[in-house]
Amino acid sequence: MTDIWTEALRGLRPLLGTETYDLWLRPLELVEAHDDRVRLRAPSQFMKEWFENHYKEAVLEQMRSRGRTPPAIDIEVAIDATAPGTTDPSPASDAPAPIPPARAPAPSGLAERYRFDTFITGASNELAASAAAAVAEEPGHRFNPLLLYGGVGLGKTHLLHAVGHAIHDNHPELRIVYLSAERFMNEFISAVRYNQFDEFRQRYREDCDVLLIDDIQFIAGRDRTMDEFFHVFNALYEAGKQIMVTADRTPSEMQGMEERLTSRLNWGLVADVKAPDLETRVAILRQKAEQDGIGIPDDVCVYLATLVRSNVRELEGALVRVSTFAALKGKPITEAFVREVLGEAAEAERRLAPITVETVQKAVAQYFSVRITDLKGPRRHKGIARPRMIAMYLSRELTGSSFPEIGLRFGGKDHSTVINACKRMAAIQEEDPELRATIAQLRAQIVGPPRP
Ligand code: ADP
Ligand code: MG
Repeated sequence: MTDIWTEALRGLRPLLGTETYDLWLRPLELVEAHDDRVRLRAPSQFMKEWFENHYKEAVLEQMRSRGRTPPAIDIEVAIDATAPGTTDPSPASDAPAPIPPARAPAPSGLAERYRFDTFITGASNELAASAAAAVAEEPGHRFNPLLLYGGVGLGKTHLLHAVGHAIHDNHPELRIVYLSAERFMNEFISAVRYNQFDEFRQRYREDCDVLLIDDIQFIAGRDRTMDEFFHVFNALYEAGKQIMVTADRTPSEMQGMEERLTSRLNWGLVADVKAPDLETRVAILRQKAEQDGIGIPDDVCVYLATLVRSNVRELEGALVRVSTFAALKGKPITEAFVREVLGEAAEAERRLAPITVETVQKAVAQYFSVRITDLKGPRRHKGIARPRMIAMYLSRELTGSSFPEIGLRFGGKDHSTVINACKRMAAIQEEDPELRATIAQLRAQIVGPPRP
C-alpha cells in the first residue's frame, strides 16, 4: 500500500501541473511516513517555507478528501556542508576559518516594497511567481533565461525586483544588475558615443552574475541595441549566469525582434502573468490597505475589487483615491462612499457600469451566431454546448457573480453545471491555443478598449 504522503502527491499532481509539481514538491524527500506523522527533508530553508506557505494546505486537503486524518508534517532542512555558515563552529578545531565570500553591493534601482512577501499569488500569476522564486533560490540553474510576460500593471516588475532582493539576501556574493531595456539602450548609445564601450562591456558582460531587464520588448527594432544585447546574453549565458527579463508579450509576438534573440529568449521558461481573479484582487487590496494603515471593511474591499478589474495598478490607484478622500472628508470607507468617490471622475463611470452576465451572453451569442435563448436552454449538442461553457466561464471571470447566480441566469441551471463548465474551459484552454485565442478575443471585446 502506498503511504499517505505519496498518495496525496499523486492526487495533487494533475491539479498543480507538472511544472509546479516538479518545482516545489518533487524536491521534497520523504524520510518517514506514518499515519500520524510524516517526516520530510527539503533541500533548503527556502523550499521548506515555500512548501509550508503555498502547498501544505493543498496536500492536507488531498488527504482529507481521501478520508484520511492528516498527519503532522515535519520538515527538516538538508544540511549542505559546503554552504557558508552551516559548518560546525567547533572552537577546538584549529582549521582556518572559512573565508566568507565577498559581499556584492546591494543592487541599485530596486523598489524596497517589491518583494516576494508583498506579492499575492493566485491562479493568474502562480506559475510566474513560482518560477521567479525558483530563480531566486538557485540563480542560473533552473530557468535560464526566465521571461515573464503579460499586460500592463499585473506585477511583472514587482516580481523582477523581488528576485533581485531575494538573490541579494540568499546569495550576497552575487553581483546583480537591474535596469530597464530603455536604460540599457541609452547607456549603450552613450558608451559608443563617448568611447566608453570597454566600461560598458565590463559592467554587463564581466561584472555581472545576475542580469534583470525590465520591458525587453523596448529594444525590438533597434538593431544595434539588439546586437549588443545578443552578445551580453551569450557571454552571461555561457558563463552560467542568470538572466531574467519581463515583456508585454511573448518573444515571437515582438515585431522587429531578431530571430536569434527570440529563440534565445525562448530557451528557458516563458511564463505568463494574467489579470487577477476576484479573490486575488481582494487579497491584494486587503494587504495594501493593511500596509498603508487604511481602514476598509472586508465587504467594501470586495465591492471595490468588483469595480476595478483591469489590473492591479488601477486597483491600487482606486484604493489610494478612496482613502485620500475619506481622510479629507473625515468619513469612513463604506460601499456608498466608494461609489461616490469613484463616481466623481467621469472616467470612472465605465467601471461603475459593471459587466453583467447578460452582456457576456450577448457577446458570445453574436460571436458564435447562436441565439441567446439557446445559450440559456437545455440543448447539449456541441455547437451550443461549447459557446455556453465559454459564456459561463467569462461570466465568472468578468462579472464576479457567484456560481449559483450564473446558473440562474443561464435558464436556472445548477451551480455544479457552472463550476464544471468553468473548470473544463480552464483546462482545455491550457492545451488548446485556438480556444485560448477565442476567449481572449471575446474578453477584449466585452471589457472594451483599455483606458489610457
Ligand atoms: P507590470 O510591470 O506588470 O506592469 P507592476 O509590477 O508595476 O506591473 O505592478 C503594478 C502595481 O501593482 C505595483 O505596485 C505592484 O506592487 C502591484 N501588484 C501587481 N501584482 C501584485 C500582486 N500579485 N500582489 C501585490 N501587488 C501587486
Ligand atoms: Mg513593469
